[in-house]
Amino acid sequence: MGRFAPSPTGALHAGSLVAALASYLDARAHGGQWLVRIEDIDEGRSVAGVDAEILAQLAWLGMHSDREVVWQSRRKHLYQAAYDSLAGHAYGCGCNRREIADSRLGFAPDGAALYPGTCRHGLAPGRSARSLRLRVPDPGRDVITFEDRFAGTVSQKLASESGDFVLKRADGYWAYQLAVVVDDAAQGVTDVVRGADLLDSTPRQIYLQRVLGVPQPRYLHVPVVRNALGEKLSKQTGALAVRPGDEGGAVAALRAAAGFLGLEVGAADSLAGFYAAAVPAWSRLLEARAGADRNT
Ligand code: GLU
Repeated sequence: MGRFAPSPTGALHAGSLVAALASYLDARAHGGQWLVRIEDIDEGRSVAGVDAEILAQLAWLGMHSDREVVWQSRRKHLYQAAYDSLAGHAYGCGCNRREIADSRLGFAPDGAALYPGTCRHGLAPGRSARSLRLRVPDPGRDVITFEDRFAGTVSQKLASESGDFVLKRADGYWAYQLAVVVDDAAQGVTDVVRGADLLDSTPRQIYLQRVLGVPQPRYLHVPVVRNALGEKLSKQTGALAVRPGDEGGAVAALRAAAGFLGLEVGAADSLAGFYAAAVPAWSRLLEARAGADRNT
């Protein structure tokens, strides 16, 4: 079971299409199902109408969810229930952003200031909880290692590279890390295929899976599309314009994404022809990568 889980902060563009296509081809290559989940848990950043726009883009590109599309904003009871089951692993934190930055402990790979653990053993008198955090293991027991099907062996020391991380934010929204783990488990996702910008989040998600006692999916992170300046494409730029009825335009967008992934798809000029070529091309690509790994 695979999935594509866009945040509705902007329509699909050349970069997010690569992640959508890779997850879709991987599910099809396994004869598996592919789900679409709208990750609108950060309601402050979600833009009204963008969910419908993304679903229309996917339909135009010939990618249809095998099950009903779900919206994270409608699943908050699941995140609350998961949080309630964490017992002693989570705690309330009274620190604000400034206090954490001032501790100068350093930065996590994703650029967030590392949390110094101030509230780990209880809130200081007079402080109240702003956010909820998950306690990570102490140094020495905190290493999470996993095999990424594209990136190879990935290892992270949670204590020094992430610190106790947020499960519920000070603005009241459940954090992405909790929502994504709960949803992948609840939906029976076995294969997560997504952009490499989320590689650094994966060890936190694996640790949370262990604490919650849910299965760990396999992971595959595809390279992120960058512009000529080496910047990740932003959701605000370069949205794919959907042209209903224009199958050639859809195939052209898909061919560009397939080319970025290094897939040999021949000269297909229909959606059916494209997928008929791209699914086996994806399997060949993964076999070639696995073979290259064995030979090094
Ligand atoms: N919602 C995330 C995004 O759009 C993707 C999350 C995931 O695939 O785990 O960047």
